[in-house]
Order: sequence, then C-alpha cells, then structure tokens
Amino acid sequence: MSLEIVDSCVSCWACIDVCPSDAIFKADTQFKIDAKKCTECEGDYANTQCASICPIEETICDSEGVPINPLGSLTGIPPEKMNEIMLEIQSR
Ligand code: SF4
Ligand code: SF4
Repeated sequence: MSLEIVDSCVSCWACIDVCPSDAIFKADTQFKIDAKKCTECEGDYANTQCASICPIEETICDSEGVPINPLGSLTGIPPEKMNEIMLEIQSR
C-alpha cells in the first residue's frame, strides 16, 4: 500500500515535510516515495498529505497509476470546463 510520485514532479520540496511516515526522499532531480514506508497516511490523517499539498496536478498516483490529485483538483475547475475556457481565450 503506497502512493507513487511520477515524472511530472518539479521537486518543489512541499511534500517531504508533511509525510508522517518519512517515506518521501529525493532521488537525483525528483522526489520518490519509499513503498515500504508509505502508509497512505492511514491512522495519521484523513487525506494523503503529499497529494493534498502537491502543486502539480496528476503527480501523485495510487498503485494502479490513478492520480490522487487529478486535473482540476487544485483549481476546482473540471477539465472539460478548463478546455472550454482555454479555447475561448485562444479565439480572442
Ligand atoms: S501518502 Fe502519506 S505516508 Fe504515503 S508518502 Fe504520502 S504523505 Fe507519506
Ligand atoms: S509536492 Fe509534488 S511537485 Fe513538489 S516535490 Fe512533492 S511530488 Fe514533487
């Protein structure tokens, strides 16, 4: 039971200090999660802390590769609505 940080990580350091299990570490230029240490925050927090603080949507995934912080999770704007807005802006 572990989350995973994928290649879109920008190494902002935000997640490392909020992990209650000391499971996050820097590997070369990116951060990773030690699968042996990650508890998915169970017993400590209701939400996974790394995914809650990560500023890059779709960067933290579950064991099946599904993002815990999907597109729209930071802005609250659904992806379809965001596409609509971008198309409208580009047409100006
Ligand atoms: S889910 Fe929780 S325990 Fe696992 S790496 Fe993220 S903050 Fe740490
Ligand atoms: S908070 Fe997100 S972008 Fe920042 S270091 Fe952690 S995984 Fe990478």
